[in-house]
Amino acid sequence: MASTDVTLEELQAGIRNVPDFPEEGIQFKDITPVLADARLLDGCISHLLCGHSADTVDVVAGIDARGFIFGAAMARELGVGFVPIRKKGKLPWKIIEESYELEYGSNTIAIHTDAVSAGQRVLLVDDLLATGGTAAAAANVVVRAGGQVVEVVFFIELSFLAGRAKIGAAPVRSLVRY
Ligand code: AMP
Repeated sequence: MASTDVTLEELQAGIRNVPDFPEEGIQFKDITPVLADARLLDGCISHLLCGHSADTVDVVAGIDARGFIFGAAMARELGVGFVPIRKKGKLPWKIIEESYELEYGSNTIAIHTDAVSAGQRVLLVDDLLATGGTAAAAANVVVRAGGQVVEVVFFIELSFLAGRAKIGAAPVRSLVRY
């Protein structure tokens, strides 16, 4: 189960930088080497959860798509439920949606209207914080659905893009920064 002997330096060393993907000028942070390593995956989940328990979090919400990988594992570890925040057109029920700008392109995300109940404490997670548009929109749909965002956590933060300034009131934490 989640261990803390994995250092943040080890996690950073597991991230593969892929230049010019998916388009020229983007330094894509590929987390698949971390996911494929059982010890690093376990350590990453543990660091993402740091300080949280089922006493502080009612539900984990993950952002499409890599936020699902971490979010579901974190929810299981805490013993709470998981809520997906999905890209437009994927959720089958009634939705609340928001549009935002990406580091590359633009997008719309959505949450089911009944995904969180009023006042629920939501821990929001994604793999990477870039310009902050995705996470800001995700936090907004959680709040509009009735939840309160206790923290927004990321494996990776591209600090030079200043994305955390966009996220609003919720505390923001990241494990590895560039
Ligand atoms: P943003 O809305 O600009 O903060 O973009 C964050 C979202 O886009 C996250 O879901 C990331 O998975 C993805 N993303 C943006 N930039 C990168 C990057 N350089 N490497 C990997 N994923 C990225």
